[in-house]
Amino acid sequence: MKVSVIGTGYVGLVTGTCLSEVGHDVTCMDIDVSKVERLRNGKTPIYEPGLEALVQKNTAAGRLHFTNDLHDLGEPEVIFFALPTPPNGDGDADLSYVLSAAKDVAHILKNYTVLVNKSTVPVGTAQKVRDVVAAETQVSFDVVSNPEFLKEGFAVSDFMNADRIVVGSSSDKARKVMEELYQPFTTEGVPLVLMDEASSEMTKYAANSFLATKISFMNEVANLCELVGANVDKVREGIGADERIGKRFLYAGIGYGGSCFPKDVMALHRAAESHDYDFKILSAVMDVNARQKKLLVKKITDRLGEDLSGKTFALWGLAFKADTDDIREAPSLDIIRELISRGAAVRAYDPEAAENVQRIFPTEITYASSAHEALEGADVLIVVTEWKEFIAIEPEILERSLADKLIFDGRNIFDPHTMSAAGLQYVSIGRGN
Ligand code: NAD
Repeated sequence: MKVSVIGTGYVGLVTGTCLSEVGHDVTCMDIDVSKVERLRNGKTPIYEPGLEALVQKNTAAGRLHFTNDLHDLGEPEVIFFALPTPPNGDGDADLSYVLSAAKDVAHILKNYTVLVNKSTVPVGTAQKVRDVVAAETQVSFDVVSNPEFLKEGFAVSDFMNADRIVVGSSSDKARKVMEELYQPFTTEGVPLVLMDEASSEMTKYAANSFLATKISFMNEVANLCELVGANVDKVREGIGADERIGKRFLYAGIGYGGSCFPKDVMALHRAAESHDYDFKILSAVMDVNARQKKLLVKKITDRLGEDLSGKTFALWGLAFKADTDDIREAPSLDIIRELISRGAAVRAYDPEAAENVQRIFPTEITYASSAHEALEGADVLIVVTEWKEFIAIEPEILERSLADKLIFDGRNIFDPHTMSAAGLQYVSIGRGN
């Protein structure tokens, strides 16, 4: 099938590339000239394991194309919108990117086309897109909701081996097109869950809000574990073995971040408010997360005092989680701000995300080219992101490198007993200390 994707970011690029991988002819369109230029040269503008090789392979096979111009799309049967939906001032999802792209797309439609919202959008957006497009064209079209559930860092494998594909549409014709589009996946056993547009739009928010709730719940358990002398890692193993609960998203830490959970929880809460419904759990989830994001700095100042001048902190990890270069709503940014406002020096290292943070803090902190280099001249280590390469570093090296022999671990990547046996003071989350 001939497919177009408008917006070539994390979701659009993965969607376009994976659909070309299963044989569709895909053109990805983006307004960012440098992004398209890079992609045409076989380089991905984001770090996502396995993605660059697939882009190169499918571009070479002539199934994947990149453009800045909507007129290059030709006559696609399906057009995806994979555009940003950031929070506006009130916390609602800002639909201006989606609606303005829909208006532009209306002018290039030539035959019946299925327009697919892959962006995370509130209930009612399919109808808004329908209204915007219908006002601009006489060509027939349908609007479908098809939310994306990929995890950054695992985006390609999540798309290729999805737990499910959700399609919301009230049009039989559009459903048939979507069934054909996803046939290479459904024949491999991926369930296609068909529903109406509103339920599909709600499904995405419910999924992200549920996962954020799981994280905030576990962070509360961790905080209580510290007070009562329990170990949250053991509690996690104990409850995660229960199939009704499941093992995933039960890790205590310094709060959820990233481009999705914070904005999606807020947007669902706002949607409830606009219907005079008080979604109490979501208020608590957001409050807990805001407190948790401050926890590591609180632990630091409780130990070292408010004035951190003269102290040098090695900071391991800048991305909001491992295996991505995404720093949107990353806890590292708040931690850096808090440390430098208290006079501390920061030596940061991240395998993928440093370039993105450098745009925010070009000169305020030092960027190291390895985890070891970040330790040079440091008094204290802070672990912010759970990159696997950090776990392998020997405690003896930390003991030799850190003047204060002190570690604050926001991701519980080390074993407390091993650390203390190596002569280190080790502060983590929900495990005593
Ligand atoms: P992104 O910021 O990485 O990508 C958006 C892209 O759209 C950018 O490349 C931007 O240049 C482009 N763009 C903006 N306006 C445009 C226009 N008028 N025409 C063409 N291109 C335009 O965003 P993302 O992370 O891919 O998220 C997109 C949507 O998918 C959001 O609604 C998000 O909530 C949702 N989502 C994201 C993830 C994730 O893990 N990132 C997962 C599931 C769903």
